[in-house]
Amino acid sequence: MSTAAAVLERCARLGLLSEEPGRLVRRYATPAMREANDLVAGWMREAGLAVREDAAGNLIGRRGDGRALVLGSHLDTVIDAGRYDGPLGVLAGVALVERLRDAPLPFALEVVGFADEEGVRYPTSFLGSSAMAGRFAPAWLRLADADGVAMADALRAFGGDPDAVASAARAPGELVAYCELHIEQGPVLERRGAPVGVVTAISGQTHARVGFRGEAGHAGTVPMDARRDALCAAAEWVLAAEALARDRPGLVATVGRLEVDPGARNVIPGEARLSLDVRHGSDAVRREAIADLRGEAQRVAAARAVQLAWEAHGETAAVPTEPQLSERLADAVAAAGRPVERLPSGAGHDGVAMAAIAPIAMLFVRCAGGISHHPAESVSEADVAVALDVLERFARALACGAAERP
Ligand SMILES: [Zn+2]
Repeated sequence: MSTAAAVLERCARLGLLSEEPGRLVRRYATPAMREANDLVAGWMREAGLAVREDAAGNLIGRRGDGRALVLGSHLDTVIDAGRYDGPLGVLAGVALVERLRDAPLPFALEVVGFADEEGVRYPTSFLGSSAMAGRFAPAWLRLADADGVAMADALRAFGGDPDAVASAARAPGELVAYCELHIEQGPVLERRGAPVGVVTAISGQTHARVGFRGEAGHAGTVPMDARRDALCAAAEWVLAAEALARDRPGLVATVGRLEVDPGARNVIPGEARLSLDVRHGSDAVRREAIADLRGEAQRVAAARAVQLAWEAHGETAAVPTEPQLSERLADAVAAAGRPVERLPSGAGHDGVAMAAIAPIAMLFVRCAGGISHHPAESVSEADVAVALDVLERFARALACGAAERP
């Protein structure tokens, strides 16, 4: 069996470890996660890695001494998940260690399976990698899940140590680099006909709540030219937002929620409330877009004599991948005889947290139809083979570079 086929077979076996029969659900510190860590730990040992778990429940396999090149991703899943988002990166790391078994390297190799990236059981972001990056918020331990179980208790039952989560933190300088292989979760590589892509940045995000307030009235008696229809204003703005985002390369803007009051067939909408989600790999481009979207909302509101309410609801900065490291990854793609495609990640990843303590790089693998967070998630063996080849070339080139440095 090829290494890629073995990786996919392991993804399939891991995909059977679930909290629920019939669909894949593997949340933080659950018995299903315990089984997943134990299964992957066995594969890590077979690959010659010494295995441990840190206090937050992250699974860590290591070979060698000194500073480490870390390959990793997460082993938790969303609800009704596919089998590749997360596990593919961990198992590719294990496969890489196997392929480098006899290679003398000037750094240690580590494979990490983060215990929670998706934040499904508790409302956290990048829990596992945040612990490793020294950014775990102690208040998280008091969060309760849907069954009222506090995180501290869940972690203790899992075998971790809530009182020692700080000990999971790695010092900046301990890591040569953090490199994550992940399915793309979008259709861009498929459209470009490329098996893999080098990630330029993990996009920053702005969220806002937008409201248009007009005047409710009788659907039969108020003439069209006497109306202040909040939904018509919202609709005009939604389409304007779509046009603006289409016009700017790489920008994505989404209105995912729309509530209309009073919400009756025979009443003119008096109020419309919308959510806005805007993302881009460049913070400057994103902020300019937000200012323009707000200006557009003001224009629509003025033209239709409705009131506008605009409430900022959170923002995260873009996290660029490390340029030199990403160039090395791009060189490895070229050396593997593949076109070098670069793209930002519109979804968040563990690299966001890891960037605080290490240079980060990410390699995306094409996924069928851009589908993710869904059981239909799929990657091809041929593409995974390319990705493994690229990772191996990348690690070997990094080793040469490290050996050359005084
Ligand atoms: Zn993921």
